[in-house]
Amino acid sequence: MPVKNRFAELLPEITAWRQDIHENPELLYEVHRTAAKVAGLLRDFGCDEVVEGIGRTGVVGVIEGRSDKAGRVIGLRADMDALPIIEQTGAAYASKTPGKMHACGHDGHTAMLLGAAKYLAETRNFDGTAVVIFQPAEEGGAGGRAMVEDGLMQRFGIQEVYGMHNMPGIPVGTFAIRPGPMMAAADQFDVKVTGKGGHAAKPHDCIDPVLVSAQIVVGIQSIASRTVDPLKEVVVSVCTVKTESDSYNVIPQTVTLKGTVRTLDPKVQDLVEARLKALIEGIAAAHGAKAEIDYRRGYPVTMNTPEETHHAAEVARAISGGCDMGIAPMMGAEDFSFMLNERPGAYIFTGNGDTAMVHHPAYNFDDNVIPFGASWYAGMVEARMPAG
Ligand SMILES: [Zn+2]
Ligand SMILES: [Zn+2]
Repeated sequence: MPVKNRFAELLPEITAWRQDIHENPELLYEVHRTAAKVAGLLRDFGCDEVVEGIGRTGVVGVIEGRSDKAGRVIGLRADMDALPIIEQTGAAYASKTPGKMHACGHDGHTAMLLGAAKYLAETRNFDGTAVVIFQPAEEGGAGGRAMVEDGLMQRFGIQEVYGMHNMPGIPVGTFAIRPGPMMAAADQFDVKVTGKGGHAAKPHDCIDPVLVSAQIVVGIQSIASRTVDPLKEVVVSVCTVKTESDSYNVIPQTVTLKGTVRTLDPKVQDLVEARLKALIEGIAAAHGAKAEIDYRRGYPVTMNTPEETHHAAEVARAISGGCDMGIAPMMGAEDFSFMLNERPGAYIFTGNGDTAMVHHPAYNFDDNVIPFGASWYAGMVEARMPAG
């Protein structure tokens, strides 16, 4: 099963969908135009059922195979949302909306899954049901969770679920995956350190929240070096430090800190959260200051189940001749994790070649990826639900 010939024929059409979506980027749940286009095309393809409004603006298409002897149902997922970035690709089809841009390639994912849906609805060469899932709000809005909470898995009887993301730095036409954690859990924290403000020349009359915050920023780095097993992955980053003053001679009353914690193991995540709170409260208390901490769990770990990862790699290998199974996990996060928490499945990278990284203003999805990605989506359905 190399690249399916049908996708070579469909390439101009799929590319046109991709570039149209690229030209009309929409953020988070506001993917109204994109979702309407997806739903309209799925109906044109002759999907057996098209449902809009799952997870607010998510779209689901159902395609019945030629037979249904084994009662199998496979879900395939793409994301539809763009990013708040000013585009610098210079492409003829660049964003028509300044400040919004498809800088993560979700335009490509959506177009490839549409291509696979068209092919599957034409051929139906499988035993069971394919469910194509188009989600909103991957970029920080937890659209995957919103669809899961709307009953996505139960309503369509999904038994396994597969997702794909393009990845710069991996050659076009090749794939990469690993069993177990693929992407990190991403949590956020806000800290408000309250001291006692006053004249900078009289620090002994103050409790300086700047000094306390500086010690907190340094102190919580001991979590990675002295709390977590050195063989386990962890990131603790303070990314924002702000006082309410902007002066040279005032010790402020408060300092606020913002940051992120990234982990690949739920036990490490629990440990880091507990240790972070204890250190921050302890450091503040040692100086007579007060620290209020708001720790919020974000996207969970994207966890590939071993058997389904093996199947995903087999299909990728058949298409491209290679699939790198030795890649390291990434400390970025991905909200397909909410779907993988519900059902076994896998999330695979498909190479975008030597391009700018995702989320960069010069990034662009490479349309040469389309035949490979669309073949993989369609191939997963045919391989996991072979026609009898
Ligand atoms: Zn992204
Ligand atoms: Zn993305």
